[in-house]
Amino acid sequence: MKSPLCEICLKNYPLICGNCQEKINEGEITEIGVRVARVLTNLEDLFPSIKNVTFKRVVEIDGVIIVIVAKGDVRRILGSSRRVLRQLEEELKAQVRIVEESRNPQDILRDLIRPVRILGVNTIWLPDNSFERIVRISERERDRIPLSLAQLESAIYEMTNERIRMVFD
Ligand SMILES: [Zn+2]
Repeated sequence: MKSPLCEICLKNYPLICGNCQEKINEGEITEIGVRVARVLTNLEDLFPSIKNVTFKRVVEIDGVIIVIVAKGDVRRILGSSRRVLRQLEEELKAQVRIVEESRNPQDILRDLIRPVRILGVNTIWLPDNSFERIVRISERERDRIPLSLAQLESAIYEMTNERIRMVFD
């Protein structure tokens, strides 16, 4: 797996080379990011498709760990079974979501609420010529999403700098 840390450090952490230490100091990878990257690396033997994954970073929203990977990598991790996700959640003792890096709030949201689907998106223009995106999801699927609507909104903002409003339909 590719990650901000070199392979040697991923395997031998907390022993760490100067180069990687600098990345930690500069915040390119956080402590929780190191943990997630190490757990994923350890799963490579069991799930070889993880070897081709590029790990970007982690965003934590109220204890839910959002793992950001490169485009196309969600299926390399989740594949046809949810076993990797279950293993990750067990090892990290937290709920985990895998999300592909994107500047598009809808792409990110799709990964965040998977397998729940977006019902629709409305764009409302405001008097100052800015707009607000309102995303609807089904009230009946509420329990299948580990994040509240407000948490989803802040996760999207954290990752894209765009504000959306989530509502139940
Ligand atoms: Zn290193």
